[in-house]
Amino acid sequence: MTLMPATPAPPATTPQTSTLLHAPVIDWFRAHARDLPWRRPEAGPWGVMVSEFMLQQTPVNRVLPMYEQWLARWPRPADLAAEAPGEAVRAWGRLGYPRRALRLHAAASAITERHGGEVPRDHAKLLALPGVGEYTAAAVASFAYGQRHAVLDTNVRRVFARAVTGAQYPPNATTAAERRLARALLPDDEPVAASWAAATMELGALVCTARTPSCGRCPIADRCAWLAAGSPAHDGPPRRGQTYAGTDRQVRGKLLAVLREAVAPVPQAALDAVWHEPVQRARALDGLVADGLVEPLPGGMYRLPLT
Ligand code: SF4
Repeated sequence: MTLMPATPAPPATTPQTSTLLHAPVIDWFRAHARDLPWRRPEAGPWGVMVSEFMLQQTPVNRVLPMYEQWLARWPRPADLAAEAPGEAVRAWGRLGYPRRALRLHAAASAITERHGGEVPRDHAKLLALPGVGEYTAAAVASFAYGQRHAVLDTNVRRVFARAVTGAQYPPNATTAAERRLARALLPDDEPVAASWAAATMELGALVCTARTPSCGRCPIADRCAWLAAGSPAHDGPPRRGQTYAGTDRQVRGKLLAVLREAVAPVPQAALDAVWHEPVQRARALDGLVADGLVEPLPGGMYRLPLT
C-alpha cells in the first residue's frame, strides 16, 4: 500500500532553478532595497528584534516612527526589562495587536536574565525566548547575525507561491510543503542566504505585492511560474479578510487607548463610554484582562499592567 503524504510535495526545485533565482533577486535588492533604520549597522541585534516584532502585523510606514521612539527610549533590552510591562503596552501606541508589546517585554526580560543583556546569536536560544516563534528566531538570526535560515513571512511566501509553485497566493497558513520549498531554495553560502532572505522579503513588499504585482519590473519575470502560466486566478479556499470596524479588536483598541492615555487607574465608567454595546464591551475587556494587557483593581478600577 502506498501512503499519501500529509501535505502536497513542493514543486521540484533543482540546484539550477534555485541558483537561477538567487542572483537576479539579490542584485535587485542591492539596487532597490529601502534604507530602513533596522537595516543599518547601528540597529544591532536588538534593533532588528524590535523591528521584527513590530513588522509582523503592521506596515513599515506605521512602524517607522514607533521604532525610532522605542529605540530612543529603550536602546538595550535591559532598559525595557527595567520598566513595567504596561509601559511597553503604552509605548506600543496604535501599532495594533498589542500582545506583541508584552511579548517583546518578556523577551527583553529573558535576554537580560539569561543572556547578560545581549540578544542571543544561537537560533535555538532565540527560539527559547518568550514570544519568539519560528519566524522571528529565523529573521533575527539571519538579519542580525548573517546566518543561513529560511525566513518565511507573508511576502516571501507569496513570492515563492507565484515564482516557483505557480499559484497566485500561498495557503492561508504556512504548510510543511512551503517550509520544504523555502529550505530547498536557500543558498548554501551563509552570507548569500542571509541576503536572499532579506531580498525575497523586499521583493514581495515592493514588487510582488498581494493585489497588483508589478511583473514588468520584476527581476525574475522571465522565470516566474505563475506569469508563465498566464497568471491564473486563485482557486483555493477563500482568503481571510482583514475586517476591523465593529470587531472585538476595534473595541479592545478603544479600551486600551483610554488606559494608555491615563496617568492613573481609570474607573469602569471611563471604559464604558467608548463603546455602546455592553456585551461586546465586556467581552473585549475580559479578553484584555485575560491576555495580561489590562490589570483590574479593587473598586472597579483598571490600569496597564505593572508586573
Ligand atoms: S513576475 Fe510578477 S508574479 Fe512573478 S514573482 Fe515577479 S512580480 Fe511576482
